Parts: sequence; C-alpha cells; structure tokens
Amino acid sequence: MRILITGGTVVTATEIMRAEVLIDDGTVVALYGGEGGGVADAMARTAIELGVDTTIDAAGKYVLPGGVDVHTHMELPFGGTYASDTFESGTRAAAFGGTTTIVDFAVQTIGEPMMDGYEEWMAKADGNAAIDYGFHMIVSDVNDQTLKEMDILMGEGVTSFKLFMAYPGVLYSTDGQIFRAMQRAAENGSTIMMHAENGIVIDVLREQALARGETDPIHHSVTRPPITEGEATHRAIAYAELAGCPLYVVHLSAKEALEEIVAARDRGSNVFAETCPQYLFLGWRNLEEPDFEGSKYVCSTPVRSHEQGHQEALWTGLATNDLQVVSTDHCPFCFNDHPTLGTQKKLGLGDFTKIPNGLPGVEERFALIYHGAIAEGRLSLNRFVEVVATTPAKMFGLYPKKGTIAVGSDADIVIFDPNAVSRFSAENIHMDVDYTCYEGMEVVGKIETVLSKGQIIIEDGEYRGQKGDGVYLERGTSQNLL
Ligand SMILES: [Zn+2]
Repeated sequence: MRILITGGTVVTATEIMRAEVLIDDGTVVALYGGEGGGVADAMARTAIELGVDTTIDAAGKYVLPGGVDVHTHMELPFGGTYASDTFESGTRAAAFGGTTTIVDFAVQTIGEPMMDGYEEWMAKADGNAAIDYGFHMIVSDVNDQTLKEMDILMGEGVTSFKLFMAYPGVLYSTDGQIFRAMQRAAENGSTIMMHAENGIVIDVLREQALARGETDPIHHSVTRPPITEGEATHRAIAYAELAGCPLYVVHLSAKEALEEIVAARDRGSNVFAETCPQYLFLGWRNLEEPDFEGSKYVCSTPVRSHEQGHQEALWTGLATNDLQVVSTDHCPFCFNDHPTLGTQKKLGLGDFTKIPNGLPGVEERFALIYHGAIAEGRLSLNRFVEVVATTPAKMFGLYPKKGTIAVGSDADIVIFDPNAVSRFSAENIHMDVDYTCYEGMEVVGKIETVLSKGQIIIEDGEYRGQKGDGVYLERGTSQNLL
C-alpha cells in the first residue's frame, strides 16, 4: 500500500516545510519539499510513476506527527469501579483526537507478582486497540521479588516504573520502598515515574474536612493544597538524585511543584515532568459547578484555584522546557450511571472522598493544546508538536519510530485544517463516557484525517480501522536524558 500526501505543510519539532510525504508499507519512505514545490512536484511525479494506491490532498493543511499520549488508564480499577473506556473504545477515541500512540499503566496487585499485572494488562489490550500502545508498570509492592521483576520487565519493553506517594493503603509506597526502586532503576537504566503528593498529610486534611461537614467536590482540591504536591516533588527529586536514576513527575499541577522541577533541572539532574490539559484549562470554578457537576473535574493531583497563577505558570513551563510533555491521565468515569459499570462519579454524593479520581481527555488533548499554543499564542507550532508527540516518544524510548515525520518513521500522521473550528460536546465525543470537561468550548483547527502505520483510520469523521490494528510496542530506555 503506497500513499502520497501532497500539497501540505509538514510540521515536526524542528521544521515547517512545504513537502510531499510518500508512505510505503506503513512507513514514511520519502519526504521531499521546498518553496515553490519544484522538488515536491518532481517527487509527486516519481511517486505516480512508482504507482500510488492513494493520494491525499493536504493543500492548505498541516501534516503533523500523530500524537503520543504517555499517560492513560484504560479499564483501570479505582474506588470500587473501573475507568469506563476499554482499550477498544479508548484507543479509538484517541485516534479520533489525533493520537496514534498511547502508553498505558499496567498495575501490580499488592501481594502478587508484578509480572501477573503486566500479563493481565497485555491481555486486556491484545486484539482490541485501534492504535499502537506500550505499558509503564505501576509498582504497588516493592520487595526483593519486585525489584528482580523490574529487570525482567525491561526485557519486555517496559522501561518505566511508577510509584505513588499518595493513596495510603492502596497504591502508596513508603519513602524506603521508593528509594529501593529508584536504586534499582539507576542500575537497570529505567525511569521512575512519580505521583508526587504527600498522601499521609492529605488523608489527615480529608478526615478533618469531612468531620466539619465539608463534603462537596471542591474540597477534593482544598484538601490537597499545592504545598502537598510541592513537598512530595521536592522529596522525590532528592531521593532520585541520591539514587542516581531519572525521575519523571506525572500530572504536575501546582506551581510549587514546578519550582522544584526547575531547581533540579538547573542543577543538571535528570528530572522531567508532564502536565495535562485539565491543569492548563480547568480549575476551581469547574469544581464549584452546582448539582454535583463539579465531580466531573475530580482527579489527582487536583485542578487548582484560578486565582493563584498555577495555569499561567504551567504554560510558561511548557514554553521554557521546564515542563517537557503534555499527556492526559485519561481515566474517565461517567457522571450519570454507566450502562454496564453502574454508578461512578455519584458514588461520591455527600462524600467527596468517594468520588472516583479521574477524568476523560485522550480525545481532546491534541486539539486543546494546539488551540492553547496557536490561538492563545502560548507556544510555537514546533513546540506544540514537541510536547504532544516528539518529546513523549523520546522520553519513553519510542523515537523516531513514533513522534515525528521522517524517513523510516511509522506513518502515524494527522492531516490538520488550521482554518477550521471544532467544538467539544458530549454529543460528538467517542470516549465511553457521558461528558467532556470542555463542553461547548470552540477551538481553532480540525483533525481531518488520521493515519496509523500508513493506514487511514479516521476520515470524514468516520473510523475506518479495525480493533486489533494497534499492536504492543516494546520500548527502549529514555532517549531524553541530560
Ligand atoms: Zn494517572
């Protein structure tokens, strides 16, 4: 199958060029361009002589690398229910939203081998995904066996391990456990990912809030104040520097945490962080929506007050590379009952601590960040590509197969119309959830066509792929270290 994308403007992390993209057997095989299109025309003629099965006219459009979302939770068990997107529905929605690779989290059950969790998540995804996927491993139970399994999983292409300083009694690890895992990562070359919130202190604040009768969704954020994230981030960095392993802080939302990342990077440490669209676009005004609608925005780390400058600081961090990645932490739960999973967000009616933590976002990320970058003037076009595709691929050992448009790369491509406008609504999303956090929001640009490995999977608003098109990616170690 040979495809020629003609007439478009190809944008990567480093270039913006008028170019033709020739795809053969799922891979980009030639990229020819230049102002005036002379070389490009010659290329097009060559391609036609070779015989092209499909030509995609991208005149007036951007030709962008497919998005890489390195933080999703399909089918995650949490708080007595499951994240409502399966690998089938969630990866299809990702494709609609211009994302062609996800890295999801397999979970170790406490008391059980880590390999069992890995195999369970591999089975959940196998044959169901619309786009390629990899796994990080959530380490719930650090012990001698688990440390050995970290080495084994490296051989399976799982090169990053996530630990939690939050959720005591569930996913929480002690400082000693965290430090041991970090030492192992320093030895085997893997990356430690950290949910950096002081869960012990947060639990005290939550109990006290409930005792005062403060039960509404806003108290989810009030009881996780920015300093609990800043302090945990500081501590995680200190341990990672002592152990000598790379550290990647997930879903950073507080400017206090960002300040710790900046300081560590200024020291030359291999410390990285992602933020997510919800922390850039949402805040307490959303959590305060009446009739329990605020529960739609409950996730951890929490969305922050609009009045304290967190959102601005995060945009600045993205512009200056103090933050390197935008991922989603996609973990949807229905507001009203889900047809098969039943009550989800409303488990927390009358008690904010029982609201499942997580929100949908895998479908909106690419368009939202483009809008923030270009329409709101926050980031350059190249930087947009870098934070949604190129750096996440490099950070987690997938580059240049994923994350760019170059000869030899997988033909994971988004044809994007910068002159159109899109509008988010619960009626037009494809995620298996009954709301979008961005209801009614209009964004500049439209995702027109999406290719995964040279196959058109989204076209004219329709899904043209099949479940199982997406395969497991064995990842290498981080290619983004200082
Ligand atoms: Zn997460």
